Amino acid sequence: MSDVSSSPSSSPSPSDKRDSKDFIREIIDADLASGKHSAPVTRFPPEPNGYLHIGHAKSICLNFGIAKEYGSRCHLRFDDTNPSKEEQEYVDSIQADIRWLGFDWGDHLFFASDYFDQIYAWAVTLIRDGKAYVDDQTPEDIRSNRGNLTEPGVNSPFRDRSVEENLALFEAMRAGNFPDGSKVLRAKIDMAHANLNMRDPVLYRILRAHHHRSGDKWCIYPMYDFTHGQSDALEHITHSLCTLEFENHRPLYEWFLDNLPVPSHPRQIEFARLNLNYTVMSKRKLLQLVDENHVSGWDDPRMPTVSGMRRRGYPAEAIRNFCATIGITKFNGTNDFALLENAVREVMNRDAQRRMAVLDPIKVTITNYPEDQVEELDVINNPEDPNAGTRKVPFCRELYIERDDFMEDPPKKFFRLGPGREVRFRCAYWLKCEDFVKDAEGKVTELLCTYDPETRGGENPPDGRKVKGTVHWVSARHAVPAEVRVYDRLFDHANPDSKKRNFLDHINPASLEILSGCQLEPALADAKVGDSIQFERLGYFCVDPDSTSDARVFNRTVGLRDSWAKEQQRG
Ligand code: ATP
Ligand code: MG
Repeated sequence: MSDVSSSPSSSPSPSDKRDSKDFIREIIDADLASGKHSAPVTRFPPEPNGYLHIGHAKSICLNFGIAKEYGSRCHLRFDDTNPSKEEQEYVDSIQADIRWLGFDWGDHLFFASDYFDQIYAWAVTLIRDGKAYVDDQTPEDIRSNRGNLTEPGVNSPFRDRSVEENLALFEAMRAGNFPDGSKVLRAKIDMAHANLNMRDPVLYRILRAHHHRSGDKWCIYPMYDFTHGQSDALEHITHSLCTLEFENHRPLYEWFLDNLPVPSHPRQIEFARLNLNYTVMSKRKLLQLVDENHVSGWDDPRMPTVSGMRRRGYPAEAIRNFCATIGITKFNGTNDFALLENAVREVMNRDAQRRMAVLDPIKVTITNYPEDQVEELDVINNPEDPNAGTRKVPFCRELYIERDDFMEDPPKKFFRLGPGREVRFRCAYWLKCEDFVKDAEGKVTELLCTYDPETRGGENPPDGRKVKGTVHWVSARHAVPAEVRVYDRLFDHANPDSKKRNFLDHINPASLEILSGCQLEPALADAKVGDSIQFERLGYFCVDPDSTSDARVFNRTVGLRDSWAKEQQRG
């Protein structure tokens, strides 16, 4: 993991885009108006088995956003009921990412594992009340006896064990007297229930696994469903917001709250999860990309993770704005990646300082410019921000421009350099290409140009001559070399996650292009990790944490325009 700064970035402010009142906020308003609650208390409950992705960001913006708007609180609770897949690294990264997104849980950091004693006691309560039993069926039998959507399930032969026998067996499960998987504790609800989740769901399983917090204290672990709602109740969560796939679990969530002496009764509300085209969002698949080295790590700038997007240079505000734009609904759909990129452009266009950088340099020599002269030209830092001021950029006889700003035999509509053609060098002078030099392979290596001293600052000359093109440039003598990593979408298929295909077959082979030998204007020598920069005419960039003062590395955050829109039109 690179050490990307995760100190709090800009916090949500009044200038942030606001969600219009969605159905969840309307429910909250109604609950406040009726006096049911005095303030909404929400929670974000990640399972620490991976890094956060943009889908989690939607949930974070919703839960923490509500707390912020209503002046209340949002808990961060790690749902760590599954010991085998959880790691401290994930716990740490999740906290860093939430802070970077601009949110804070204050003192309200919780772990579901801290409730294991209480959850166990409540399992005993259900047994005493005749509402839970120890089942000796094999996992296969439990599955096949569950029935399906059209057929009811079959009662377990162990369903009618006495309370005493169940208490003794459950105690013995906890004491480690049975092998892993040999018994489970199940709720005694209804094996013919129309909702399969209500057909005697498993509450506890035997699993000898080291837990990242409780260590080896337990060899039985509660299931997610038997932990989540009770944790919400223990924390006095008022509105438990989750994604639509939990809609079918709501009756069970309610059943536990109704049948246990819980201290509060939260309300579960479901909303549509975020899906983005050209990406995968399942943690299992993201982990596979990391483990099999298809990417450089969880924070690879092509990953849809919060840490990847941070390293890519996406401002936290842009992610929040994107989440506000897509809003909260009950309908599953897929959002266009271009929408996220536009949110990034919008913030970076406003904030990013402009600099000149040449990614594929070709040398320009100004034959009529004095050999030793250097001029410090004033260049505006950000036309969108009058307070950003100007900087000095050195200009001299040898410059670099982009190779593709020159054509040996340009068509009429090519408004850049060609033999005999004149263009404006941004904020500098007008230059005319008089000749060019080729190497033995026929590759153009140098342009020989003349400049017009009457066009200083790029101004029009008094004789009324016109040019159509402006190119950016860097003084060869002062340039700072750099590597630039140009990222594109990680997948070349709009829906790589579909069951119909293997997502690994659709990794975009052009998703990373490493450009070495790029030449930057000297002001970029001081750019720091976290700075937003526009390279004029090329896109938005940031300093990669791999960068050192000897070997600078920049990432392309996003191009100036959406190049995929054209591709999609072309089909
Ligand atoms: P996976 O199924 O890939 O493991 P998950 O959804 O189970 O992911 P969690 O860590 O349990 O991941 O998620 C924490 C919270 O984030 C949950 O409340 C979940 O509903 C929410 N969340 C996860 N993915 C999305 C998404 N794509 N859109 C909106 N919310 C999401
Ligand atoms: Mg989950």
